Amino acid sequence: MLKLLCCVKQVPDVDQMRMDPETGNLIRAGVPAILNPVDANALSAALKVKETYGGEITLITMGPPNAEAVLRECLAVGADKAILVSDRAFGNADTLATSYSIASAALSQDSYDMIFCGKETIDGATGQMGPQLAERFGAAQVSGALLLKEVNEENKTMIVDRELEKGVETLKVTLPVLFTMEKTNYPVRIPNLKGKMKAKKAEITVLSADDIPGLDRSRIGDPGSPTKVPRMFPPVMPEPGMIIDEGSLEASVAKLMGLIKE
Ligand code: FAD
Repeated sequence: MLKLLCCVKQVPDVDQMRMDPETGNLIRAGVPAILNPVDANALSAALKVKETYGGEITLITMGPPNAEAVLRECLAVGADKAILVSDRAFGNADTLATSYSIASAALSQDSYDMIFCGKETIDGATGQMGPQLAERFGAAQVSGALLLKEVNEENKTMIVDRELEKGVETLKVTLPVLFTMEKTNYPVRIPNLKGKMKAKKAEITVLSADDIPGLDRSRIGDPGSPTKVPRMFPPVMPEPGMIIDEGSLEASVAKLMGLIKE
């Protein structure tokens, strides 16, 4: 049976988020938390693989306890199991520490044939997690995956189309493989009532740092994060332009010359 791991992140709805211009801090109060949009597409790709070839989908997220909500949302459309990696010790993690924590947690539970990620999140938007996780899982990496096909579980191979700037590249890859996905051929699934009821009751495996055997605490959270953010600030916008219309070409040119002299 194919074992599929889907990495999903709970993110603030950035359309509703503002930055405090004085402090540079993001104002998160009252901003709803949602499933990172392209993670829903990645999950749909995993569901399609499961429906076509059989398999089991495990979800994983690292985040605060309320990130459980996005796991239930994904369980409602057909994922089988879910892991929530949650502990204060994981806080203040940069991408290096985050990928180490997620891979350590996932591998403490099972091994995986395919790992699905979104291309990037709408809040952090580094796009670094996919490549880092591929390395940590010892998996081949296909970024910008478009179409997953011809999975041969016995030979541990499959065919993948991936997006290039000007065209499509077809690759034959050996499992395990990690995909990063955008909005592709896998539209977001809408849960039905039965799915929602099942997801509501589903057991979620919650892992703290102590629950992960062999986890190196110097590589998680703040101590494990070499990237520091000294300051955040909104971009400085250029002054708005001026339209000179004095009623005639001559008068407008005269006005412009005056302004240039000034
Ligand atoms: P991307 O690389 O853009 O995401 C690609 C894909 O990876 C996603 O589509 C998803 O499939 C997967 N993915 C990403 N994040 C997760 C996740 N958490 N769980 C499961 N799958 C995931 N964040 C905090 O919440 N608290 C902090 O205190 C904090 N401090 C930070 C300090 C620094 C210096 C930096 C650089 C970042 C900090 N972050 C913090 C952000 C945190 O590191 C990122 O949210 C995280 O590493 C994911 O990066 P990203 O959002 O850019 O994901």
